Amino acid sequence: MTTNSEMLIKGKKVTGQAATFDVLNPATEEVVASCHAATEAQLNGAISAAQDAFTSWQYTSDEDRKAMLHQIADKIEANAAELAEIVVHEQGKPMFLAQAEVGGAVAWTRYAAELDIPVEVIEDTDTKRIEVQHKPLGVVGSITPWNWPLMIAIWHIAPALRAGNTVVCKPSELTPLNTLRLIELMNEVLPAGVVNVVLGGGEIGGAMSEHQGINKIIFTGSTPTGQKIMRSAASNLKRLTLELGGNDAGIILPDSNIDAIAEGIFQTAFLNMGQTCAALKRLYVHDSQYDEVCQKLAAISEAQIVGHGLHEGTTFGPVQNRMQLNKVIDLVEDAKQNGAKVLCGGAKPEGAGYFFPPTIIAEVTNGMRIVDEEQFGPVLPVIRYSDVDQAVEMANSCSVGLGGSVWSADVAKAQQVAQKLECGTAWVNGHAEVLPHAPFGGCKMSGFGVEFGQAGLLGYTQPQTININK
Ligand code: NDP
Repeated sequence: MTTNSEMLIKGKKVTGQAATFDVLNPATEEVVASCHAATEAQLNGAISAAQDAFTSWQYTSDEDRKAMLHQIADKIEANAAELAEIVVHEQGKPMFLAQAEVGGAVAWTRYAAELDIPVEVIEDTDTKRIEVQHKPLGVVGSITPWNWPLMIAIWHIAPALRAGNTVVCKPSELTPLNTLRLIELMNEVLPAGVVNVVLGGGEIGGAMSEHQGINKIIFTGSTPTGQKIMRSAASNLKRLTLELGGNDAGIILPDSNIDAIAEGIFQTAFLNMGQTCAALKRLYVHDSQYDEVCQKLAAISEAQIVGHGLHEGTTFGPVQNRMQLNKVIDLVEDAKQNGAKVLCGGAKPEGAGYFFPPTIIAEVTNGMRIVDEEQFGPVLPVIRYSDVDQAVEMANSCSVGLGGSVWSADVAKAQQVAQKLECGTAWVNGHAEVLPHAPFGGCKMSGFGVEFGQAGLLGYTQPQTININK
């Protein structure tokens, strides 16, 4: 696999002149590529390029921007195999998931291309017309994480462009290569400077958050980093969309058909080895079905084939990085010491790679770290309840609120319970299902602002009221 490790600023490839860092394959711990971070001067250059490009890009017609976004989707499709391979090498997920990620990137780009920016007419009489238009903000800074790096980059960039903004993006230094290739493909379609990419870690993300030349930051990542960005953004009142971590609860109502839902629960809890912001991270099960649920989830977990994402038959890849693996191990050890029962998995296998098998933990309660903290990895704690109101209370007793779910054959009853959950999206008989047309965002410490749908698009705009006396 050949990998490009250069940044792209004003349509030109540029080598970073700050520190060098290695990108590792999480399945082997081998170096996939060495990259160079941007200096502050290079970041300034990328932001200036985006500001220059904005002067004309903001006035391109809707038709032109729609057409270019479709051309970008075509380019991603034409290079899908290469992009998926890069994702497997640096992110670790199995090939089928990397292909799904590339497919998602195409779908979200085409959806953004088709969106229209509304003009709302407030009043229209013989003497007066008042309408609200939505104008682009200027330069959008996109800061992305390492779990779904390609798809999240598209989530940020496609609507920003559709609304007429220009972009400087910074991928996670753990998984930058797919984004570098993506931006290269975008630059085959877009005028120079409309989308730029810089490399680096928190220092570059921090400099972007403070920079006077950036008008909005769209960020997906952890709550503490989101808080830092919010503090820095005050300098020029940057607009913010913060999609931060969650600790999503799922509640199985009594009398559910466990055979019918067990696979769905497993898949949504362990999606991307559990490294998904809106994965099901705590499962509440009624006393009457607790043993059955635990036993079925453990059986599905044990049937997974854990291995290198490129190996035939692999269904379950490694954790993406050492820090995250250590966090998962620490939480599992803490649970064990506090009397929890590990039903399957629970230990890192010998050898290279950040592997950790899917792990089901029983006899856990709220107040234990494995329940209260976001594991963001391949572990699911299963908590017993005896009364549905008590389950809702436990689900809500959490500082974050991204998603939540209720599982039952009685959909109306499940919806009633789902509406009591304190979260941005509540699913019934599903979880972690994010869609281009359904607004998605968090409440409480999971952030604010939404992505996707028309509401997501409008987050990249500034309303302007036009008040005309005829
Ligand atoms: P971070 O929030 O630190 O990283 C996300 C992005 O922010 C990366 O591009 C990172 O750069 C960048 N960044 C780091 N520091 C700053 C800063 N001061 N200002 C601006 N940008 C910054 O997440 P981690 O990778 O450290 O993961 C920690 C935890 O975050 C996980 O355990 C998980 O709980 C949660 N998480 C949530 C995700 C989600 O989808 N909501 C995704 C990933 C993690 P770089 O990586 O190059 O240092």
